Amino acid sequence: MEKQKLLKQYFGYDSFREGQEYLIDSILEGKDVLGIMPTGAGKSLCYQIPALMLEGITLVISPLISLMKDQVEGLNQAGIHAAYLNSSLTMGQYRKALSYAKEGRYPIIYVAPERLVTEEFLEFAMYTRIAMVAVDEAHCVSQWGQDFRPSYLKITEFIDRLPARPVVAAFTATATKEVKEDIIDILMLREPALITTGFDRKNLYFGVMAPKDRYGAIKNYLECHPHESGIVYCLTRKMVEEVCEKLMEDGFAVTKYHAGLADVERKRNQEDFIYDKKPVMVATNAFGMGIDKSNVRFVLHYGMPKNLESYYQEAGRGGRDGQPAECILMYSGQDVITNQFFIENNQDNQELDPVTRQIVMERDRERLRMMTFYCFTNDCLRDYILRYFGEYGSNYCGNCSNCLSQFETVDVTEAAKALLGCVEECRQRYGVNVIIDTVHGANTAKIRGYRMNNNSFYGSLKEVPAYKLRQIMNFLQMEGYLALTNDEYAIAKLTQKSAAVIGGQETISMKMAKEQEHPAKVRSDKRKKNGKGLSMPGREFSQEEELLFEKLRALRMEIAREEKVPPYIVFSDKSLTHMCMVKPTDRAEMLTVSGVGEYKYEKYGERFLACISEALRA
Ligand code: ADP
Ligand code: MG
Repeated sequence: MEKQKLLKQYFGYDSFREGQEYLIDSILEGKDVLGIMPTGAGKSLCYQIPALMLEGITLVISPLISLMKDQVEGLNQAGIHAAYLNSSLTMGQYRKALSYAKEGRYPIIYVAPERLVTEEFLEFAMYTRIAMVAVDEAHCVSQWGQDFRPSYLKITEFIDRLPARPVVAAFTATATKEVKEDIIDILMLREPALITTGFDRKNLYFGVMAPKDRYGAIKNYLECHPHESGIVYCLTRKMVEEVCEKLMEDGFAVTKYHAGLADVERKRNQEDFIYDKKPVMVATNAFGMGIDKSNVRFVLHYGMPKNLESYYQEAGRGGRDGQPAECILMYSGQDVITNQFFIENNQDNQELDPVTRQIVMERDRERLRMMTFYCFTNDCLRDYILRYFGEYGSNYCGNCSNCLSQFETVDVTEAAKALLGCVEECRQRYGVNVIIDTVHGANTAKIRGYRMNNNSFYGSLKEVPAYKLRQIMNFLQMEGYLALTNDEYAIAKLTQKSAAVIGGQETISMKMAKEQEHPAKVRSDKRKKNGKGLSMPGREFSQEEELLFEKLRALRMEIAREEKVPPYIVFSDKSLTHMCMVKPTDRAEMLTVSGVGEYKYEKYGERFLACISEALRA
C-alpha cells in the first residue's frame, strides 16, 4: 500500500507534516536518515509508515520502557501489530514475544538498547530479515547531550554483527551541532538524508509571572482549568512534596513524581497521570522523558529551570496533539540562587578533571544567565527562545505574555546612572544584590559590613521598588552596560559602554509593563476560552458544542477504562475537537475526522456516532 493510503487508513490523517514525507521517501530508497524535529512534530510516523512498506522487520530503539509501551499501545489501537522487548516482560513473556516475532507477526518491534547484543536476541536477529533500525531519542548516544545513555553505544555493535546492514534512521528533538555530529559519527550513518524542521511550537502559549504568592497562583490556575491535564514542575523534591500535598488538601486530583520515590510508587503515579485518573502531575525534572501523553494542556513551572534547553524540553511536553497549551513560568529571585547552588555542587561533574569541570561550570552559569534573562525580557518570549536556539523568530508572536501585555517606554537614565555609579564607586567588588540593596538604602548587617552605607549612592533610589531596580539591572546586563563575572561570585563589572551613561552622554530607555497591567495579571480572553482542549484557532464554539465535547470525553474515558489504555490513545483531544466541528452522521463523515482511521472506526466509530447523534437530538 502506498504511504498516503497508510497514513489515512491506520492513522486517520489526510496529509503529511513538514519533513515527514522527505524522511519516509529517503528510507524507502534505502538511505539512512537523521530527522531533527521538535517534540510533537510527528517523528514516529517517519519510521512507522516505512516499516509497514519495507520487506522485513523494523527494530525501534527507544530509551525508556514507558515510551515503548505507549507507542506499542498506540500502534495496536490503530490496528498495527507491534511488540516490545524489554525488562518489564517476564522471561516467559519475552520468549513468547520473540517466537511470535520469528514467525513474522510484527512489522515493528521496540527494543531496549541493552537487549540488542544479548545472545538470545542476536540469535533471532541473525536469522530474520531486519529492514531498518530506527533510533528514537538519538541524542542519547551523545555525551554532550542531557540524557546520555551508555547502552546506546551498543547499537552500532549490534548493526555490525548483522549479516546485512539495514537502513539506519535516527530521530531526535534536541540536537545542538555537537550532538548532531555525534549522532552521525557514533551511529555511523552513511550520508544520511538530513532534515531539521523549525523549533517553533505555534500551539504553545508562553508566559512568565513573578507572583508574590506562587502557590496561590498555581491553585488559581488549576481552579480556572478544571478537568484539564497538566504538569507542575518544581525545582526540588521537597518542593514537589509540599506543593503536591497542599494541592491535595485543597481538593485537586494531583499526583507526584521525583527520583526520591520508590519505583513502585513512581510507576503508579505516572500511570495515574497518563490514564487521567490524576490529571495533574507535580514533579521534578526527573519526570517527563518518554511521556508521550498528548493531551497535556498546561505546563507550569514553580521555579525557574537551570537553562532554556531544559525549560523548552519540559514546556514542550504540553500540546503534543497540536491543540493549544499553556506554558507558564513562575519565577522568583530565589530561583537563581537555588540554581547556582546546583551548578556549584553538581554531582555529575565530580568525575571530571578540574579543568573540564571549570569549563562545564562556566558553561552552566552562562546558560543560567540566559535563562534568567528570559524571565526578565519584555520582548516576545517565543522570539527569545528561537533566537537562543539559533533561529530567527519574528519579534511579535501574539501568543506570549509579553506580546499580550501593554508596555510603555520609560526613561531609566537616572536609575542607570546611580546603579552604574554605585558599581564604580565600590571599585567593582560586589554582586548585583549588594548594589541593589545599596541604592535602595537597605539597613542590613551585610551592607554595613561592606561599608556600603557610606557609598554616595546609598539610598539614592529609595523610592524605586526593588523589583524595578532588578529589572533595570537585568536590562543593563542584557544590553551590555554591565557584566557579571562568570564565576560563583557573579561580581558586577563595568563595560566599555558604561562610561557614557555615567558621564551623562547617553540616555537609556526600556520597555516596562504598565503599572496596573503587570504581565503577571494579564490573561487574554482568548486563553480562557481555550480551556478543556476544545479549541481551534479562528473558530468559536457554541455551548452545545462544548457540551458535546464533554460527552465525547466521557465516552472516551469509558472506552479507555474498558480497554485499559490511556484515554488519549483511544482518540486525541484534537480528534474530539474535530468531531465537534464536523458532527459526523455516518461512517464516511466520521472517516474525514482527523485521527479516525478505518481500524479505529471499526472499533469505536459507531459508539461515537451514537453519542453525537444523541447529544445533538437532546
Ligand atoms: P514526536 O515523536 O515528534 O514528538 P509523535 O510522533 O509522538 O511526535 O507525534 C505527535 C502527535 O502528532 C501524535 O499524536 C501523532 O499522531 C500526530 N501526528 C503525526 N503526524 C501527523 C500528521 N501528518 N497529521 C496529523 N497528526 C499527526
Ligand atoms: Mg517521539
